[in-house]
Amino acid sequence: MTHGTRTQGPVADGRHAVVVGGGLAGITTALALADAGVRVTLLEGRPRLGGLAFSFRRGELTVDNGQHVYLRCCTAYRWFLDRIEGAALAPLQDRLDVPVLDVTRPEGRRLGRLRRDALPVPLHLGRSLATYPHLSLADRAKVGRAALALKGLDLADPALDTQDFGSWLAAHGQSARAVEALWDLVGVATLNAVAGDASLGLAAMVFKTGLLSDPGAADIGWARVPLGDLHDRLARKALDSAGVRTEVRTRVTSVSRSGNGRWSVQVPGETLQADAVVLAVPQREAHDLLPAGALDAPNGSWRSAPRPSSTSMWCTTGRC
Ligand SMILES: Cc1cc2nc3c(=O)[nH]c(=O)nc-3n(C[C@H](O)[C@H](O)[C@H](O)COP(=O)(O)OP(=O)(O)OC[C@H]3O[C@@H](n4cnc5c(N)ncnc54)[C@H](O)[C@@H]3O)c2cc1C
Repeated sequence: MTHGTRTQGPVADGRHAVVVGGGLAGITTALALADAGVRVTLLEGRPRLGGLAFSFRRGELTVDNGQHVYLRCCTAYRWFLDRIEGAALAPLQDRLDVPVLDVTRPEGRRLGRLRRDALPVPLHLGRSLATYPHLSLADRAKVGRAALALKGLDLADPALDTQDFGSWLAAHGQSARAVEALWDLVGVATLNAVAGDASLGLAAMVFKTGLLSDPGAADIGWARVPLGDLHDRLARKALDSAGVRTEVRTRVTSVSRSGNGRWSVQVPGETLQADAVVLAVPQREAHDLLPAGALDAPNGSWRSAPRPSSTSMWCTTGRC
């Protein structure tokens, strides 16, 4: 095995699980399994934990990559923050409150705010939208109707993925200005795409969960410390205390059945035996690691599709 810092904490007897990938998903899985009494080994190819959401240094500056904000509805990420004792370092707003500055007006900049009141959905955003200065009166009136129509969509309906969100908004009376000054504000930040490029299914999931479910669902949180402090340093501390054996700089090269109902996990210089293996890695890596026969349709269409960008996975981590 290649060498990162090794953990030799106390481990429970019994079943052994190997978690492949030390990003947010892998760390969370490893902690949850350890908490359930499973003996856990976490394997990460890079020299640090955190995956896509990490920090790096440029001279005096610490720069964060990924996961810039999270929402109150990101319950899995909030569990993770609590579990690593990092919640106080990444607090949530008491209530959603986002200043929105229009810098394009010839007569000068204008500030608006998107904030919620202590009212049930959808009234919680009513006052804010009614006074939102970046939309005309007519556009403001139409936003409410589109939001209600969005709320009525069935997220399980596969037809939603065959339409783009921009066309759906246009068909529901939303002007180009309303899309730019309101819908895309949320859509670009969460889906990494403007409405015309976003699937209606994904957009409906984001808007329904974040803005049309619980009144506080879209309250925003962000880290007051570099992300590496949370996702690497504190996570590592929690894993060590939970008795998880954590190996960084350790890339898994294959996963196969051992014949005795167990799994063999191959890393350079060592083969680990496990009762269960969790692949907490991006789709392509998971596909390459899965043993033959594991997938019903191994050459399914995602294989030839462009790799999704990280921010398009925004809500998979938080289970928004
Ligand atoms: C620029 C940017 C901005 C973002 N902004 C936000 C945001 O504002 N809010 C938000 O919620 N999310 C945001 N995200 C998304 C969020 O960061 C990711 O969804 C999340 O970090 C993904 O975590 P993961 O554990 O699923 O995967 P990853 O972070 O990809 O972790 C997978 C890990 O597996 C390891 N690995 C892969 N193959 C192997 C192997 N064979 N053996 C061992 N290890 C392996 C990789 O090295 C990696 O560390 C952003 C992402 C980026 C990049």
